[in-house]
Amino acid sequence: MDATQSAIYGSSLYAATAVEREPSPQLTQDIDADICVIGGGLAGLTVAYEIARRGWPVVLFEAQRIAWNASGRNTGFVLPGFAQDPTLTIERVGVEQARVLWAMAEQGLEYVRATIAENEMEGVAPTPGWLCPSKIDRPDAIAAEIDLLRDTLGQNVEMWDTWRVRHKLRSKSYYQAAHYPKAFHIHPLNYAFGLARAAEKAGARIFEDTPVLHIDPDGVRKRLVTPHARVRASQVVLAGNVHLGALMPDISGTLIPITTYVAATAPLGDKLIEATSFRGAVSDSEWADNHYRPTPDNRLIWSGRMTTWPRNPKGYANALRRDIKRTYPQLDDVTIDYVWNGTLGSPLHRMPQIGEVASGLWVASGFSGHGLNTTALAGILIARGIVEGDKTWTAFNPFELIWAGGRFGRAMTQARYWTHRIGETVAAVVSRYRERAARQKLEAKPEVPETATVQNDSEPAVAGSGTGRKTRRKSKASD
Ligand SMILES: Cc1cc2nc3c(=O)[nH]c(=O)nc-3n(C[C@H](O)[C@H](O)[C@H](O)COP(=O)(O)OP(=O)(O)OC[C@H]3O[C@@H](n4cnc5c(N)ncnc54)[C@H](O)[C@@H]3O)c2cc1C
Repeated sequence: MDATQSAIYGSSLYAATAVEREPSPQLTQDIDADICVIGGGLAGLTVAYEIARRGWPVVLFEAQRIAWNASGRNTGFVLPGFAQDPTLTIERVGVEQARVLWAMAEQGLEYVRATIAENEMEGVAPTPGWLCPSKIDRPDAIAAEIDLLRDTLGQNVEMWDTWRVRHKLRSKSYYQAAHYPKAFHIHPLNYAFGLARAAEKAGARIFEDTPVLHIDPDGVRKRLVTPHARVRASQVVLAGNVHLGALMPDISGTLIPITTYVAATAPLGDKLIEATSFRGAVSDSEWADNHYRPTPDNRLIWSGRMTTWPRNPKGYANALRRDIKRTYPQLDDVTIDYVWNGTLGSPLHRMPQIGEVASGLWVASGFSGHGLNTTALAGILIARGIVEGDKTWTAFNPFELIWAGGRFGRAMTQARYWTHRIGETVAAVVSRYRERAARQKLEAKPEVPETATVQNDSEPAVAGSGTGRKTRRKSKASD
């Protein structure tokens, strides 16, 4: 990657380890196109690939370079489900429809896996597993969440007890976890480059450095203006995420831009393997903090913190280093080799916006922090909608385009994040305190002669020893 390209892609580990890709040309001549996709992130690329595979002509315009922002800078977790809490999805659409939506989300996940394999994509390195450990000791609540996902939504998810979690992740911060064996993580920029290559091979025409500056979406033929040429198209797909901005303010105004920060450590060798022998992805918070994974060369990629106005990522290197040390004190102060940021777009309901919003005008955005499987799903549904007249995308109709509140919405989201972070930290500290207190009580307890225990088993005084036995089991499990 040359210096100009590095400036566009940011100083990420992904940019430094990207496979070679020749940039596509700029559009310099007026064209007539059947289908035009605006935006070369994962959503736009998947739409273009799926349309081209079906033998239809499609052009894609990217303002800068393919996957230069969220799609090429994310943490690379390919997950089941959506960003929205599943209980809210059930409340909104009912159990049956929620189950259908979750099955579709899984289709997105499997699509990514199959597309990597079918196209023999280089440097993507899919690695299985996603573990969500809790920083609060709450086995019943986690078991209930897993029951909902497994029994109601049909997901493949299992519960790990504290002992098993701490055996794999050597951190005293963690208690029980949900484990998703079918999820995996990838090098997202190489995946995006692989998709672009596959789309071009299937016949899609990609133009980079070609921002669409103006669009007249009315009429059978929609008119688009780019810096050096004009375009007429019968179908237009808006896949510009938060970067769509002034081109379609009614669409971009439905998204809250959320910037998160990612660090990649220097290779940590055996130190990392001793700290965590789990090679899959880990998320210990529902919000932006502490999503991490090892790389094949034993670096740790760690993302966290969020701002609703983008900041210089360099200012977050120390904060991320502290987050790593807080979770894994044994790693001490790691060296951060790369630090970067990326901006995702989140609707208020946190469900993707997929479908035809006016005749021949489609939208594919709002994938929040759950975009790898859902951009794939959007690509499949929109291609089928355009080419085959398929209406499966209407399953997303309940999740409407709602104005996200402008600057006020951003400020509120920032405040909610801070409040959530403080609440989560306090709850975690209380859990650790209780665990320590229980252990100290157990250690301080004088040995009770075997006979006394038997004799007093039904006496009130022995209730303590019963509790002691229970605590001992628990505390052994959490060593
Ligand atoms: C730090 C970070 C970590 C994340 N981690 C994960 C994760 O682990 N797992 C997961 O599932 N999701 C994750 N996400 C979310 C995921 O990356 C996004 O949801 C997804 O990449 C969005 O893809 P997109 O194509 O909609 O948008 P983008 O990648 O933002 O692409 C939109 C493109 O449209 C172009 N564009 C906009 N307007 C125009 C125009 N007028 N003309 C031409 N082009 C235009 C832009 O230049 C841009 O390239 C993460 C996001 C971030 C930022």
